[in-house]
Amino acid sequence: MSKNTSFSTWVEIALDAIQGNIHLVRQQTGKQIMAIVKANGYGHGALAVAQAALEAGATWCGVARLEEALELRQAGLECPILLLSWTPPEQIRIAISHRISLAVWTYEQAEWMATEAKRLEVQARLHLKVDTGMGRVGIQQESAAGLARRLHDDPDVFFEGLFTHFARADEIDTTTTERQEMLFSQLLTEFESLSLRPPFVHASNSAASITRPSAHYDILRLGIAMYGLHPSDECLLPPGFRPALAWKSILSHIKVLPPGSGVSYGHEYVTRKHERIGTIPVGYADGLRRNAENHVLVGGKLALVVGRVCMDQILVQLDQMPDARVLDEVVIIGAQGNQRIRAEDVARRWRTNNYEVVCGISARVPRIYT
Ligand SMILES: *Cc1c(COP(=O)(O)O)cnc(C)c1O
Repeated sequence: MSKNTSFSTWVEIALDAIQGNIHLVRQQTGKQIMAIVKANGYGHGALAVAQAALEAGATWCGVARLEEALELRQAGLECPILLLSWTPPEQIRIAISHRISLAVWTYEQAEWMATEAKRLEVQARLHLKVDTGMGRVGIQQESAAGLARRLHDDPDVFFEGLFTHFARADEIDTTTTERQEMLFSQLLTEFESLSLRPPFVHASNSAASITRPSAHYDILRLGIAMYGLHPSDECLLPPGFRPALAWKSILSHIKVLPPGSGVSYGHEYVTRKHERIGTIPVGYADGLRRNAENHVLVGGKLALVVGRVCMDQILVQLDQMPDARVLDEVVIIGAQGNQRIRAEDVARRWRTNNYEVVCGISARVPRIYT
């Protein structure tokens, strides 16, 4: 077993897995790919993922916040970047000055964006967001053509894109997605007849990228699948995709406690016999959920976390691992020996999805790229 003693806890990212996943989607679809790197690249590190994705043939990056877009620009990335959601009015000027493409769905936003662009003597690159059934942001489709006309006719605006977002593309029942796709394609036909079709039309997240070629249009907005994680239990990645992330730590201390010993805050766990208890320097401040059952891999076997998760440490029961030693590697997500804990396994224990598990690995955990 390799002994990495550089950190208490760390995340290893296989950038070649991310690149391989992008190659698979490109081969299967032939479409342009927007690498979705919001939330620090789903916890994988936004800049490293963006660079690897662009190298693998992605042409766009997608983010949720201006701060995320600026991180990429400040590192020198020149690719088109779409800010997928709402831009606070005070941030519009800086976004446009950095050539960030913006999502727009009201006349008021269009006015603010055009005004700032005029002041900066550049064009605002805008993607019209249509709400076909997500109910989150976007113009209702019956009003979309009017706003598209306004964008198209404004010399301070480059009407660059048209997009929508699916609410249930990761489910077996395709009723809602079919309805959303139908509304969107009708709208696109209307735009084409009015000569309002912008150069980039897009609708597919990972789930639709895998399951709905009819909804691919010009660009695929690839998030979870790029990281090698399943869109949902009902929408599994095809063979060939590889998860990129492993989350690891190390045994920092081992002792045998006598029967009746309380373990961790509140003594919620009390030993029943002589028990081997190990300490691992990873805690809820790193993103390990406190009020949930947790397991880790030690010596290629599942070890149960006992007692409360602390801010920076956890305790594990090691009676089944008599060979475990201080400095041995511990796996929170990933493979060890013949065992694997997937992000999806952690998500099930935490009653959430794999997205939240990886996004929740906090910034203080070093990311190591392999
Ligand atoms: C996050 C996001 C995506 C990516 O979704 P995945 O399910 O991770 O592929 C695509 N489009 C929009 C608008 C998003 O917010």
